Amino acid sequence: MAVQRTFSIIKPDATNRNLTGAINAIFEKNGLRIVAQKRIEMTQKQAETFYAVHSERPFFGELVEFMTSAPVVVQVLEGENAVLKHREVMGATNPAEAAEGTVRKEFALSIGENSVHGSDSEENAAIEIAQFFSGNEIVG
Ligand code: ATP
Ligand code: MG
Repeated sequence: MAVQRTFSIIKPDATNRNLTGAINAIFEKNGLRIVAQKRIEMTQKQAETFYAVHSERPFFGELVEFMTSAPVVVQVLEGENAVLKHREVMGATNPAEAAEGTVRKEFALSIGENSVHGSDSEENAAIEIAQFFSGNEIVG
């Protein structure tokens, strides 16, 4: 296994409920190191670009509205096999299907308000990281 980086977002439903630290504790306990992090308000354009792959889906407007409704915390996480590890720790998209002990099982409110985002491949992780961080903001 190789050390990888992945891109993570703590979403508005979680920042609204003051869960940033609790979620970060789960990441860290599972061997994911936070090597960059900042709290931002996503613009409409940033959210539309970030989720462009879903632009034809019926929930796209709702998703963009949600992601711009309150601050988010964007992060770069590093660790062994970090992309898959992070997806495992987040749990299934729909919290009703998420495994015990996962972030979404513990905290997510619904399939839309599901507390966290994680890249789904190493290739997408690199693209997503570059949308929010410059190289000198990431310190491993
Ligand atoms: P993410 O990309 O946020 O890590 P994911 O990869 O588990 O989540 P995707 O299929 O990429 O899931 O969907 C992106 C996001 O769009 C979901 O996390 C969720 O917030 C929202 N979403 C997905 N499906 C629905 C739906 N049926 N209704 C409302 N929102 C949805
Ligand atoms: Mg996804």
